[in-house]
Amino acid sequence: MNIVVIGAGRMGKALTAEIEGAEDLSLTAILERVEEAVLPPADVCIDFSHPANLPAVCEAAARQRIPLVLGTTGLEPRHQQRVEEAALRTPVVQAANFSTGVTILQRLLREMRQVRSLFDVEIVEAHHRWKVDAPSGTAKALARALCDTPEEAAALPTHAIRGGTVAGEHAVLFLGEDETLELRHSAGGRQIFARGALLAARFVRDKAPGLYTMENVLWDR
Ligand code: NAD
Repeated sequence: MNIVVIGAGRMGKALTAEIEGAEDLSLTAILERVEEAVLPPADVCIDFSHPANLPAVCEAAARQRIPLVLGTTGLEPRHQQRVEEAALRTPVVQAANFSTGVTILQRLLREMRQVRSLFDVEIVEAHHRWKVDAPSGTAKALARALCDTPEEAAALPTHAIRGGTVAGEHAVLFLGEDETLELRHSAGGRQIFARGALLAARFVRDKAPGLYTMENVLWDR
């Protein structure tokens, strides 16, 4: 399977290393920026770069019918609209966090919606000093999984810590009367996101157009 990667930063490098180690995958190209809506021919395009690239990447993938795996975070509503338009014409897997553990955590949090009101809930996340967005896309996705409406999710207290080389820590604290429940995920390194993105690439390759999640990748294989 031929893959084009957008973004040659920390995630681009982690993806390159994982692709080199996989017998069924080969790297067609790795691009820093996509300004015009053209992609090199490939079976799948994986984007972990910057929201500025998204309109051109989405337009090219939709026109050239290249399945997309989208990991870039910090998207504004206008970017998300482009993703949804592209998904009408080509299959797209989009996730704020491609790790297996966080995908499972999101599923657990949806199960916990019913009991959420029994606790005060707070989210704490920590990331390396270079991370641009705060709170993280993952923290927002966890809040959305636990809450019934986007407004409730936006109001959930979330604390972002930035420093060092932390790959990604997320804890959801359920603070009750004389008891505390904590659900925590620790990323050991960026390769967990790269491996998840490659699972998603293998999944999305033969799918019908549509917007898929990492839960689809793990549960609907
Ligand atoms: P990075 O800063 O190391 O790399 C970003 C790359 O995008 C760089 O190569 C940069 O040159 C390029 N780029 C292209 N257009 C740009 C522009 N207009 N402005 C700035 N840079 C531009 O970042 P990273 O750690 O590799 O992360 C990339 C993206 O992936 C971020 O949005 C990050 O939050 C996201 N991410 C997602 C997951 C996930 O599982 N979904 C995991 C890790 C990181």
